[in-house]
Amino acid sequence: MTQRIAIIGAGPSGLAQLRAFQSAADKGIEIPEIVCYEKQDDWGGLWNYSWRTGLDAHGEPVHGSMYRYLWSNGPKECLEFADYSFEEHFGRPIASYPPRAVLFDYIKGRVEKAGVRKYIRFGCPVRQVTFDDASQQFTVSVHDQSLDLVTSEEFDHVIVASGHFSTPNVPEFPGFSSFNGRILHAHDFRDALEFKGKDLLLLGSSYSAEDIGSQCYKYGARSITTSYRTAPMGFKWPDNWEEKPLLVKVDRDTAYFSDGSHKRVDAIILCTGYLHHFPFLEESLRLKTANRMWPLGLYKGVVWEENPRLFYLGMQDQWYTFNMFDAQAWWVRDAVLGTQTLPAKAAMQADSQAWREREETLDSDEAMIVFQGDYVKSLISETDYPSFDIDGVNRTFLEWEHHKHENIMTFRDHGYRSLMTGTQAPRHHTPWLEAMDDSLEAYLAQPVEAETPLDEESATQATTTPLAS
Ligand SMILES: Cc1cc2nc3c(=O)[nH]c(=O)nc-3n(C[C@H](O)[C@H](O)[C@H](O)COP(=O)(O)OP(=O)(O)OC[C@H]3O[C@@H](n4cnc5c(N)ncnc54)[C@H](O)[C@@H]3O)c2cc1C
Repeated sequence: MTQRIAIIGAGPSGLAQLRAFQSAADKGIEIPEIVCYEKQDDWGGLWNYSWRTGLDAHGEPVHGSMYRYLWSNGPKECLEFADYSFEEHFGRPIASYPPRAVLFDYIKGRVEKAGVRKYIRFGCPVRQVTFDDASQQFTVSVHDQSLDLVTSEEFDHVIVASGHFSTPNVPEFPGFSSFNGRILHAHDFRDALEFKGKDLLLLGSSYSAEDIGSQCYKYGARSITTSYRTAPMGFKWPDNWEEKPLLVKVDRDTAYFSDGSHKRVDAIILCTGYLHHFPFLEESLRLKTANRMWPLGLYKGVVWEENPRLFYLGMQDQWYTFNMFDAQAWWVRDAVLGTQTLPAKAAMQADSQAWREREETLDSDEAMIVFQGDYVKSLISETDYPSFDIDGVNRTFLEWEHHKHENIMTFRDHGYRSLMTGTQAPRHHTPWLEAMDDSLEAYLAQPVEAETPLDEESATQATTTPLAS
């Protein structure tokens, strides 16, 4: 009998899974019956921008954490699909740090070409997943919002691709309840123009603080203060940006820090991370982890060791993104099809433990990048996903880090060589700091200057300087 599989989420990970099955079908392999449940009305996950915050039109928590004017925070060459290049999609080379709308278009292009939209049921949040030992079947309960109907179906496998950058981690500091200004989490940040002319405090020292702070600087905030718990980010910030140690308290409009200093601020943005949150999974199926490179409990980073009929995609802390999700999806596909054999639970756990022990030795960004590259390599070597130059991707990541440390406000003006096509990216027509319109039309509007100087020389300057995180 044909197997039935449920995929939860049609973001980049869930779409990678659909594409993986479709590529097998193209080779004449019989694939299972697939249903992909997506709670939003369109695909693309976080890349499907929503102006909404809080609850959506159906009272569902808004998934989106992306904001206007968001440009890729790493080179597109590091996330490029091995089976669908940027050049194929756009018909010409484009610059290395596209805005969100351009990446969304790229993600959509591949799955439109693959014709997999038919598998997705939109507006369908999964409410509950349970497993029956006797029948070895999952029961998936789903709320079809257009009909306002909750129904259940049975599946042989469930693949959780619901993401982990949507449920905010929200700490509280003394004085928050009497602060005069606005306090919000990065999840609810949408438009830097809201903070034009304002003195802004951002709590956190990772990507959100760096990028939201940079957005607000670009769109005219009067000052940016970032506060770190363990270590400063350590970039060379503009003059109106300072890094402070941990926030101790706020008093009406003033923030006090652990070094004894204080600063008057208009608003506070909590860039304090996200929780892995799976309220729809029964206890025995639920991954519980912090955001880290090797969450325990997942053989090969994807198989739920407690019940290998369940899979998770994209649950790692992410340097690699789209092509890592592909590597995972191809591997999971083969596990479902039975061409990938799974060892006994103890062996799976031992294998995971070995990765975890290596993860615990990682002491720099470079080491983490190489670690994740090795992970992607190991998956790809066991599937028919097109192999690509992962060492080259690692080198591109290092160049990117070097450019960030050179100048955090201009790193997006650099270009890199595609590891898939070999084509060098041209410079964008406008430096990032001056490019205020983040639309696809504006980005693609002017002809790309193919002759502009390329960043070849910088490739040789790649540094291993670790970022302070
Ligand atoms: C602010 C921000 C900026 C980022 N910038 C970059 C970047 O520049 N480059 C990069 O490579 N990565 C970036 N990322 C990382 C991002 O995690 C990945 O690019 C990618 O979106 C992860 O894909 P995913 O499919 O695993 O998860 P998501 O994109 O989160 O997609 C998950 C999908 O599951 C659906 N879903 C969730 N729960 C349910 C449910 N119960 N039932 C049905 N459907 C459900 C959601 O609606 C969503 O469509 C960024 C992340 C954030 C938060």
